[in-house]
Amino acid sequence: MTRTHRIAVIPGDGIGQEVMPEALRTLRSAAQRFGFALDLREIPWASCDWYQAHGEMMPADWKAQLQGVDAILFGAVGWPATVPDHISLWGSLLKFRREFDQYINLRPARLFEGVPCPLANRRPGEIDMLIVRENTEGEYTKLGGIMFEGTEREIVIQESVFSRVGSERVLRYAFEQAMHRPRRHLTVATKSNGIAISMPWWDALAERIGAEYPQVTVDKQHIDILSARFVLQPQRFDVVVATNLFGDILSDLGPACTGTIGLAPSANLNPERRFPSLFEPVHGSAPDIFGRNIANPIAMVWSAALMLDFLGERAAHDAIVAAIEAVLRNGPRTPDLGGAASTTALGEAIAAAL
Ligand code: ATP
Ligand code: MG
Repeated sequence: MTRTHRIAVIPGDGIGQEVMPEALRTLRSAAQRFGFALDLREIPWASCDWYQAHGEMMPADWKAQLQGVDAILFGAVGWPATVPDHISLWGSLLKFRREFDQYINLRPARLFEGVPCPLANRRPGEIDMLIVRENTEGEYTKLGGIMFEGTEREIVIQESVFSRVGSERVLRYAFEQAMHRPRRHLTVATKSNGIAISMPWWDALAERIGAEYPQVTVDKQHIDILSARFVLQPQRFDVVVATNLFGDILSDLGPACTGTIGLAPSANLNPERRFPSLFEPVHGSAPDIFGRNIANPIAMVWSAALMLDFLGERAAHDAIVAAIEAVLRNGPRTPDLGGAASTTALGEAIAAAL
């Protein structure tokens, strides 16, 4: 019997609408070559156009509409000229992350041949890391308050929340990832020399869980020096695990070290599959280049490959990444890669390489 993957396809706004067709093109080729079927459900909501027509980002029954899907493939959301970001983002993407308990945010960063690297003297292949960010708790809370507001005694308190379950599950996930990569190395981001309660606790938890993975070498690093080493010695890193705030920063820094944002993919995972996971490029809707067919589709295509990997199609994932490598090496190239090719031309080249 053919395996069928049920995918909700949400192009969203701006270049999300331009790069999504290229991801679908690749997915269809991969399905043909690797013998699985796709049940694609195109969804018009979670976009600012929808908001303008309906006064909300998503219909009230959005969860019911996603019932039974295995994954969500997401383009980009946001069109600040017409809808404020806090409405578009909180009304769609952040709702998915929370309501679907997508507690792992995964962002691979690799330096490919043919891609200009902002760091001097870096060879292709030398940078190959996987950033695992906690996606649901930590420093990003609305707990706290302002006292004596508007007076000289004004005090602001902003709490962080680390649950045992929440921290253990992201640490364990990172160790598992490290176990399955050739270098079997894990860097644990911390700041236990400054943040005196939560971070030593996080360190101790990492140590305890690490004891279950003796094959993985662990390197605990404070976030300040860790950030510096991302730039100075990126080859040191394999898997990196971090809390929500530190992971947020590192997962922009990592892809920045490996060239254009047009390459960076991400996955928001509910690893137990109680809810659908979501796969999206790191970049946003890029209003400045929308409508010209020049957006780099690789971040979107690679995100689709991560999705296939998560759905058990490892061989298809590997083949798509190999096709991306081939296209980056030989061209065509979109303007962000120094070329003049279109989004479509790149998408077609990837599908052809596949
Ligand atoms: P968000 O807040 O959603 O992350 P943003 O406004 O911060 O969005 P992007 O929309 O990602 O950022 O755009 C940042 C810059 O990168 C823009 O100049 C944009 O043109 C460029 N950019 C983003 N994605 C791509 C892409 N796929 N190909 C080429 N350039 C891109
Ligand atoms: Mg941004």
